[in-house]
Amino acid sequence: MPERRPLARNSWLDKIAVRIDDPVRRLRFLKMARPEVQDRLRRRFAIRVRMLMIPSLAVVVAAAVFVRAPAKPRPPIPVARPTSPAVAPAPPSEVWEVEKTAASETYSNGLWIDDRYAVPNHPRGYLAFPAGSANAPAVPRSDPAGIVFHTTESSQAAFSPEDNGTLRRIGESLLDYVRRKRAYHFVIDRFGRVRRVVQENDAANHAGFSVWADQQWLYVNLNESFLGVSFEARTDPRGGAVISPAQVRAGAMLIEMLRSRYRIPAANCVTHAQVSVNPSNMQAGYHTDWAFGFPFEQLGLPDNYAHDLPSLWAFGFQYASGPPDKAASGVYASAAHTEECIAGRASAAGLTLAAYRNSLRQTYRKRFEEVRRAGSAN
Ligand SMILES: [Zn+2]
Repeated sequence: MPERRPLARNSWLDKIAVRIDDPVRRLRFLKMARPEVQDRLRRRFAIRVRMLMIPSLAVVVAAAVFVRAPAKPRPPIPVARPTSPAVAPAPPSEVWEVEKTAASETYSNGLWIDDRYAVPNHPRGYLAFPAGSANAPAVPRSDPAGIVFHTTESSQAAFSPEDNGTLRRIGESLLDYVRRKRAYHFVIDRFGRVRRVVQENDAANHAGFSVWADQQWLYVNLNESFLGVSFEARTDPRGGAVISPAQVRAGAMLIEMLRSRYRIPAANCVTHAQVSVNPSNMQAGYHTDWAFGFPFEQLGLPDNYAHDLPSLWAFGFQYASGPPDKAASGVYASAAHTEECIAGRASAAGLTLAAYRNSLRQTYRKRFEEVRRAGSAN
């Protein structure tokens, strides 16, 4: 997407935005502050002035629609939005390996992993960036920092006993494909069987250009830093993806084991749509698997859609628009909230939204270059 024109000449809009307490109205106002909308307003204004001799549009808009209580000091914006005040993320349960053979592993929580299809890739290694500072030195790490959830987007057959043969054939050809591509660490098929694809100590090609952060660290390009778990499922643009009860049960056990083994925080268990970015146009949400409807709760996790999107607040990406009826769902609701926070931060810093976003983008380019030089860019 082409760069937007700077908003410096419209600082009166920013001044008005700061004074709007209601976040929805403020967001609506800031959307209206986009240059193309302003141009439209200016043209309309000129016509109105000529025809009706009304006073300044800025005064009318501010007085009639937006201006409410005097500006209050803003609280500092947290790195990540708390998931839910009622549900504190539980620490991972203790899960241990009970038995291992050449073909499989059994765990104390009932998890069974089929190892017959495991393939090597290259050993994991990545840079973690301190979240609080754009200039703090990166730290080299090799432990899995989180999990990214995917759908395979592969062919589907009806989930019924009559289609058993077709379901099995589809699952087998999918497995061939993901092994060749080194696409994920684990695939959970529609019968809930957990197949190891890429070995856990190696990186897998699952997340591409991507960004996530926890309270301490920012991660850029998650193939190296996050494990990839994919559910055999396909996204319906209207209803999202649906997984079977067997996939839910198996997924919950796999997540529990991985979190126990690597002490992965619940907040770092997120979907591909939450982390995916496209650096060529600075849009987030290039991949849309699990943009909404991921069953966090059934999988033993807090609703991580409640987290603001680090690609937006740390690096100035803008989220690609989704289906209009999903604007209040999943990652699209997170994106809207994050945009509000960014507008607030820009105002607090005395910058236009565009100038603030540009400074974040410079940080991204700097960090991306460090990742590239370290050899873990995608
Ligand atoms: Zn994906």
